[in-house]
Amino acid sequence: MAETALDFIPVDGNAVAGDLSGLFARDVTTAMICCGGCGASAEMGSVRVYGGAMGSIFRCVTCDTIVVRMVRTPRGFAIDMRGATHLLVRA
Ligand SMILES: [Zn+2]
Repeated sequence: MAETALDFIPVDGNAVAGDLSGLFARDVTTAMICCGGCGASAEMGSVRVYGGAMGSIFRCVTCDTIVVRMVRTPRGFAIDMRGATHLLVRA
């Protein structure tokens, strides 16, 4: 029998608070980021970063697509990852 949306009961983000805490407590420089432009994967620590007072721009080492934009604000960090397909954080 095929699964339907009704087979899953959604919960809120608090239900995965432990997983989120573990994720963001890691060294993210070893996480693999996959470029949305060319599909190449690279460790976050190896991508080219252009930074300044306004924030940082992370570019794919293969095709130069912007994979991450990061801005530090008085209230925290804002991270835009629209240029990446995903970020794989190793266990
Ligand atoms: Zn790329």
